[in-house]
Amino acid sequence: MIGAIIGDIVGSPYEFANTSDIRFPLFSKRSSYTDDSICTVAVADALVRGSDFGSTLREWCRRYPNPMGAYGCSFNAWLHSNAPRPYNSYGNGAAMRVAAVGWAFDTEAQTLRAAMASAAPTHNHVEGLIGASTVARGIFILRDMIEPTFNCRDIDSLLEYHTAWIGNGTSRHRAYLTRHARDVYLLHSRSAVRQMALKMRYAKL
Ligand SMILES: [Mg+2]
Repeated sequence: MIGAIIGDIVGSPYEFANTSDIRFPLFSKRSSYTDDSICTVAVADALVRGSDFGSTLREWCRRYPNPMGAYGCSFNAWLHSNAPRPYNSYGNGAAMRVAAVGWAFDTEAQTLRAAMASAAPTHNHVEGLIGASTVARGIFILRDMIEPTFNCRDIDSLLEYHTAWIGNGTSRHRAYLTRHARDVYLLHSRSAVRQMALKMRYAKL
């Protein structure tokens, strides 16, 4: 979870001004926590207290109403609704807040169930659920430094995800991902990631 928050702060100046330079500065005066950190903390808090994911997310996000990057329109409406209902989002919001789930359970099945439960109050579309469970599963597997079975297909999946989400993949990107794949994610399945990446590209979230 601390890694997720550091990543959020490092990436914050580039959310709406992307860079393809892999040697970008990690911190600057423009760096701050965003909605991603607040939602990540809320999910962790729900796990620790055993409270409901939806109401805990609303509690934390209402407490911090104007983070850098801002809440998405639909999420913001959900936050302030008197009768909040899941709105079938297939954006990345469920995946970006799920980190703590990857650390909270002893089995992969429990991890996947909790990841989906943390997504469901807002991202109840199948792609939203897959996004959350993919990231949580990656953390669950990598946290014990179990040797992941990365192979060419995994690297291709990462590259495909990266290309659809960030921009054109290059041989430099591929070399970088090959070196660092272990530190990023272990992906759920190639087809699930392809579907998620395509949805994200079309949704432009
Ligand atoms: Mg965000």
